[in-house]
Amino acid sequence: GDEDLGFVAPHLRSVAPSRSEFRWADTTSYAAKKKLQSWFLLPNGNWELGKILSTSGTETVISLPEGKVLKVNTDSLLPANPDILDGVDDLMQLSYLNEPSVLYNLQHRYNQDMIYTKAGPVLVAINPFKEVPLYGNDYIDAYKRKSIESPHVYAITDTAIREMRRDEVNQSIIISGESGAGKTETAKIAMQYLAALGGGSGIEYEILKTNPILEAFGNAKTSRNDNSSRFGKLIEIHFSETGKISGAKIQTFLLEKSRVVQCAEGERSYHIFYQLCAGAPPALREKLDLKSAYEYKYLKQSNCYSITGVDDAEQFRIVVEALDIVHVSKEDQESVFAMLAAVLWMGNVSFTVTDNENHVEAVADEGLTNVAKLIGCDVGDLKQALSTRKMRVGNDNIIQKLTLSQAIDTRDALAKSIYACLFDWLVEQINKSLAVGKRRTGRSISILDIYGFESFDRNSFEQFCINYANERLQQHFNRHLFKLEQEEYIQDGIDWNRVDFEDNQDCLNLFEKKPLGLLSLLDEESTFPNGTDLTFANKLKQHLNSNSCFRGERGKAFSVCHYAGEVMYDTTGFLEKNRDLLHLDSIQLLSSCTCHLPQIFASNMLTQSEKPVVGPLYKSGGADSQKLSVATKFKGQLFQLMQRLETTTPHFIRCIKPNNFQSPGNYDQGLVLQQLRCCGVLEVVRISRSGFPTRMSHQKFARRYGFLLLEGVASQDPLSVSVAILHQFNILPEMYQVGYTKLFFRTGQIGVLEDTRNHTL
Ligand code: ADP
Ligand code: MG
Repeated sequence: GDEDLGFVAPHLRSVAPSRSEFRWADTTSYAAKKKLQSWFLLPNGNWELGKILSTSGTETVISLPEGKVLKVNTDSLLPANPDILDGVDDLMQLSYLNEPSVLYNLQHRYNQDMIYTKAGPVLVAINPFKEVPLYGNDYIDAYKRKSIESPHVYAITDTAIREMRRDEVNQSIIISGESGAGKTETAKIAMQYLAALGGGSGIEYEILKTNPILEAFGNAKTSRNDNSSRFGKLIEIHFSETGKISGAKIQTFLLEKSRVVQCAEGERSYHIFYQLCAGAPPALREKLDLKSAYEYKYLKQSNCYSITGVDDAEQFRIVVEALDIVHVSKEDQESVFAMLAAVLWMGNVSFTVTDNENHVEAVADEGLTNVAKLIGCDVGDLKQALSTRKMRVGNDNIIQKLTLSQAIDTRDALAKSIYACLFDWLVEQINKSLAVGKRRTGRSISILDIYGFESFDRNSFEQFCINYANERLQQHFNRHLFKLEQEEYIQDGIDWNRVDFEDNQDCLNLFEKKPLGLLSLLDEESTFPNGTDLTFANKLKQHLNSNSCFRGERGKAFSVCHYAGEVMYDTTGFLEKNRDLLHLDSIQLLSSCTCHLPQIFASNMLTQSEKPVVGPLYKSGGADSQKLSVATKFKGQLFQLMQRLETTTPHFIRCIKPNNFQSPGNYDQGLVLQQLRCCGVLEVVRISRSGFPTRMSHQKFARRYGFLLLEGVASQDPLSVSVAILHQFNILPEMYQVGYTKLFFRTGQIGVLEDTRNHTL
């Protein structure tokens, strides 16, 4: 029956819009279920399991575990599953799929360190925040031999490898979840498995070593996660004909570069800075004029230097070793460290007022001289670039002095640019080292570890971009798990009950529509010299108020109705972050440096300095790069990413953070529920359960299993052979459907056939 399709408890409706709602009292078979257990919502927001004692009209008497007996509204109860289903490893097996049942099932498993659970085709992973004995070679072997069945990242990765070989199609493992939910760890666990199965050439070792490097340069301690990735990452791992790893390619997305110059109390800048300060050997320290982290203003401002349980000096040695392994030469490494030191010293450059119009000049102190020395430029030139700006008025070049805030912005922009370019350059070097050789088959498995949906008290440009990316990914998820599935059934003439799902196209349109979408309007305002965050916010309100996903808010704010909930954005800083200015003076300075910088910057911006451009300049390559804003560049990257993912068979892992304290054994039902809703896990189970997720063309099915037939078949056409196979293996009629071109199976049905085939081969 469909009594088990309820998801949203009535009293929780204010939190999330109701999907398919169900109340137990509505079902006719209610009386028969009287004796069953039932979920009751406690005032603290947690669900408690109770037994129904009696019911009259709308009132039910239930007894709770500690012997308490309560009279409650029948409407407030949801049916619970029989004990025998406690802790099933696939939510699809639950008789009742309501929210408390799902929450309880996951918790039941979590309490026994079973952090992985299937939700139909999706793997749910709940962060244990402690070491769990589920990894390592013995487990890898067991999953490879298929002697363990319980859900695991290894199992998903194994499926990806098998499907890559079987279908000759590239695969992707798409990992999502909130900050701190365990995405990056999960990605590493998947890489571990790939390396173990596809190893042999030695390149797998290099691939694993990219992790400590990218984490050092791209991760930081935040209030949510001591090792939070501040960039998105796609790693494409290539396999040769023989199934061995032949190389890899890494693409990164939107590094949070503002962290280099600014970070909140209790958080840290990128790990590498602290590692360098703590771990650089004496000769290097001297060469770079390195001081301890306390001496640098960029690191000092957040009042946090160390992470519990982390030895930065030791980490530095690990990073250097990893750089060696991915063939970054010692000379290049030293340049990288010099650039890092330059960034740190840059933060110590101070300014002094020089006239009564509040114009300032950089002070020629230790900071300035060290920066000049490290990047290899003249102190005077650096001072000039940080204190003035060349402007073209008509045909004349004039030199404008800067105010303190302009000078600080210029200094910080330079520091951010150096760091961002360094990061990109490093990724490029790693890619060169991992480059796929000539004998590539083109088969690959990509792992995507990208920031999840974010909604804070105050949301800025970063959240705006991150949440936009998540809308795109959610659409990809929807398309694959719902839309394509349903379309396929319909096309193939399968008898099928349509299941509705939440389409987020309207929200994507709000972002992407031209000329009146969020991104277009942002870019337009960014090109106006007089545009400000306020004029931008006003424009949004003026043009988008009729859009159902948009709401103008007071002052400079606006809200977007995302698939995962409504988020209010404060436009403060939007234009500046989107323009991402680096003035010509700074670019010219960098291009004149005698250090490694020109090389590091080469692919990024030096080409621009050759053009006679005056005034604001947008960083990025390409012919009309002056116009490329951060948001537009990001959108382009995202489109490319989606295109690439579209050509792969996706495998989804949804990471869940069980509490906000990074603490083990602490399962906050409300927090988990909110994340389950955000990522559509429940709908996925619902649709998979009512559908036929496994499918194969008649031809393929006949070819693949035909040889297992014990008796001959009268007609040799694929359909007849297929039907004979189904009969021989006693696959029940309700477990499959025969479509025009394909056979459709409920989950788990193909397993017997595959096992027999593997044993026979
Ligand atoms: P995210 O990338 O989603 O922000 P991380 O992968 O960095 O989150 O995980 C945050 C922290 O949680 C890790 O540093 C680690 O301490 C812990 N963690 C995550 N997954 C696991 C796991 N499978 N086993 C043990 N600890 C984990
Ligand atoms: Mg991460």
